[in-house]
Amino acid sequence: MAKIALDIDSTLHHYWDLIDRVSQERYGVELPYEEQTDWGITLLERDQLIACVEETHSDANVLSAQPYPGAVETVRRWKKEGHWIHVTSHRAGSAYAATEQWLSSIGMPYDDLHCSYDKIARCVELGVHVLVDDSPVNLRQARAEGIVAATIVHPWNQELVENDGVIGGADWPELSERLEPVLKKLG
Ligand SMILES: [Mg+2]
Repeated sequence: MAKIALDIDSTLHHYWDLIDRVSQERYGVELPYEEQTDWGITLLERDQLIACVEETHSDANVLSAQPYPGAVETVRRWKKEGHWIHVTSHRAGSAYAATEQWLSSIGMPYDDLHCSYDKIARCVELGVHVLVDDSPVNLRQARAEGIVAATIVHPWNQELVENDGVIGGADWPELSERLEPVLKKLG
């Protein structure tokens, strides 16, 4: 049995369109996906960025997210195979109820949900074996803790996948296939 931790934004659904839309609506600033090759968003001021991220985590926005094709199916299979699923999102505790409701509405099985800002520390506490997360910061920290790091490939983490031993898939079916041997080894 493997303990698998799953990020939500840009991992279970395509978050980028949402933050781009919010940024355009609030500040008239476009955030082009293809040009986002760094983790930091420099096109917005810090307080603008915080306001945008907060708005993307409103109940309505959390509830309207469309999961990536194959994401729910893959996690259902993992769960059936006996793996333990921890869903972990860098979002305020106030978004917990909506997040819980969203996961149930898309039919995503999980054992534990964590909405907070201490993702890797919590994964270490829980003895997580595999983290699926798009953030280069989290991927690097996970690897430093001996956790297998995996992600959906995005412009901001492509380099880590190519050069740094992070397991990447262009989409969920590919990611699931690449994780198969890792999960088998964990038993
Ligand atoms: Mg994410």
